[in-house]
Amino acid sequence: TAAGDSTLREYLGGQSLTSGSGSGLPLLIQRTLAKQISLAECIGRGRYGEVWRAVWHGENIAVKIFFSRDEASWTRETDIYSTYLLRHENILGYIGSDMMSQNSCTQLWLITHYHPLGSLYDQLNRSSLTPLQMAKLSYSFLNGLVHLHTEISGTQGKPGIAHRDIKSKNILMKANWSCCIADFGLAVTHSRMTDSMDLPPNPRVGTKRYMAPEVIDESINMSSFESLRLADMYATGLVLWEMCWRTISNGIAEEYKLPYHDLVANDPSFEDMRKVVCIDQQRPIIPNRWSSDPMLSGLAKVLRECWHKNPHVRLPALRVKKTLVKLALSISPNQTPSSWLHTVSD
Ligand code: ADP
Ligand code: MG
Ligand code: MG
Repeated sequence: TAAGDSTLREYLGGQSLTSGSGSGLPLLIQRTLAKQISLAECIGRGRYGEVWRAVWHGENIAVKIFFSRDEASWTRETDIYSTYLLRHENILGYIGSDMMSQNSCTQLWLITHYHPLGSLYDQLNRSSLTPLQMAKLSYSFLNGLVHLHTEISGTQGKPGIAHRDIKSKNILMKANWSCCIADFGLAVTHSRMTDSMDLPPNPRVGTKRYMAPEVIDESINMSSFESLRLADMYATGLVLWEMCWRTISNGIAEEYKLPYHDLVANDPSFEDMRKVVCIDQQRPIIPNRWSSDPMLSGLAKVLRECWHKNPHVRLPALRVKKTLVKLALSISPNQTPSSWLHTVSD
């Protein structure tokens, strides 16, 4: 799809009257988008809707279809993707949103770039990672997270955005061992100028397995945007752990496992998570083999700082990104992280 991507990009780039840099598409085109799209195959089905591979002007794209009872998530994702300056190589590329009425039933569509490799979760199930693949993947994930979290000030700035559902299933694989962050149905934006959040955030949302201790026990200060970012950093620690777990050292890597696979069952309750994460203060296992690997032992330290029970001890995304760059340079001194994002082969 590399050639396809570039034609799509040229098409988007050639437009002038746009709906904000989140999309790049003129509103008029967005409103008629659904009519030009043919759905090809369902690639994901969840509690809140379906994701389809579809074809638009001969290109593969993805369509997320929300059930009408979940209009709030569709509106939220549409608003977030329309945020000025959000567009970034490590944030899922947005094309537009549309509403389809069929036999008195309304379908809500969110149209994005299509990534045939699926999610990071799918990738880690499929294969283990070499240290260089791990370095590239984790760097590109943090690169996207830093962009999301950071407020860019100015009249045409970008608010800070907390994701609130960071997990390996919400990160999509791009080619070349880089990835992008997706699924903004719970995200919250914040601007320093007005010191206000765009939504009164309800406390216990997201995926229970990845919920920070202060979210589980509701001690989090919901009026502080910084608290929401630090809860994202806890989940980021768990995602980095999933990647490390699958990274080969001395010729071996464990089978893929979800974080806390050894401590809670599938679909854990709040009570299950509270016991493990808040009361017993357990965290995912750090295998002994990591200590003899220069990158994995360095990452173990990062993980512990990300998932610390005291949110204020956790590292901000930019700090983690910088540490990843250092660790990566130690295993691959001739390549810089920015060159990784633009090289074609591995
Ligand atoms: P939900 O809000 O229901 O969790 P997501 O946006 O996370 O929906 O999408 C659900 C799943 O569909 C993802 O975990 C991923 O496997 C797949 N998916 C979503 N968007 C894309 C895309 N653009 N390209 C490829 N797969 C996708
Ligand atoms: Mg999701
Ligand atoms: Mg979601």
